Amino acid sequence: MSQTYLLKGDVARPGRIAVEKGTTLRQIVEELGGGMANGKAFKAMQIGGASGGLVTADQLDLPLDFKTLAPWGCRRGDGVITVLDEDRCMVDVTYSFLRATQADFCGKCVSCREGTKRMAELCGDLLEYRSNDADTGMMLELGEVVHMTAFCALGKGSASTMNIASIAFADDFQNHLDGHCPLCEKEKRLPIAPGDGVAYDRKHVVIDPNKCKGCSRCARSCHAEAISGVLKSPFSIDQSKCVKCYTCMELCAFGAIEEVVDDE
Ligand code: SF4
Ligand code: SF4
Ligand code: SF4
Repeated sequence: MSQTYLLKGDVARPGRIAVEKGTTLRQIVEELGGGMANGKAFKAMQIGGASGGLVTADQLDLPLDFKTLAPWGCRRGDGVITVLDEDRCMVDVTYSFLRATQADFCGKCVSCREGTKRMAELCGDLLEYRSNDADTGMMLELGEVVHMTAFCALGKGSASTMNIASIAFADDFQNHLDGHCPLCEKEKRLPIAPGDGVAYDRKHVVIDPNKCKGCSRCARSCHAEAISGVLKSPFSIDQSKCVKCYTCMELCAFGAIEEVVDDE
């Protein structure tokens, strides 16, 4: 059974892709995405949007499997895969994804709402060369606090991209602390635009009663207690409680949970 993703960023052929089980990240870039655009080299791949994570060239031969990719914070999340080339500054990329939390997350809990806002502000300062070691340390510590205290997988994953980027691409972060980033100064490029461009309130996570086997796995995993049902009968999601963290969608072994988007 294949799963659909939106492939974005610096590939030759961005767009909707169907990914079969076992497909490697390299195959996604080189075959489904038509390779890197403009002959540039691969730098990193962000998987799952604002609550997802980041992999580098060292992980390209791993499959797109979220148990395998969990150490890099990757999850299905919003179903968007963003490929980044060698000329992308990872402070700029991190800032784009932290800013996306402000539009993509529900804002119900204080830790995530205020924490992601402050992380985005601190990263914006770093991007503009207005930050020092202490500010950057605070940004990373805040990410740990939000990870530990946020209610759902969206908040818990909000710092994953930043954490991996700050370690794997420490030079980019140091350049912004030193006040001079050759990548940001090299050429004017449009910043990476995370997400699928669909507003949060137009998205709904729903269960297809024809596919649901009533196993209850989704209900047991939902922190928002939004899923209910009777064993061996179709379960359903209370839209007033769902925070659209996509955890249930990642767990259902029968592909019964999907995202639907309201017409504009
Ligand atoms: S419920 Fe989830 S997305 Fe909403 S504010 Fe809390 S952690 Fe963030
Ligand atoms: S995990 Fe899938 S099959 Fe099981 S109850 Fe939930 S939707 Fe139905
Ligand atoms: S129903 Fe699914 S998407 Fe909604 S809050 Fe629960 S686990 Fe997350």
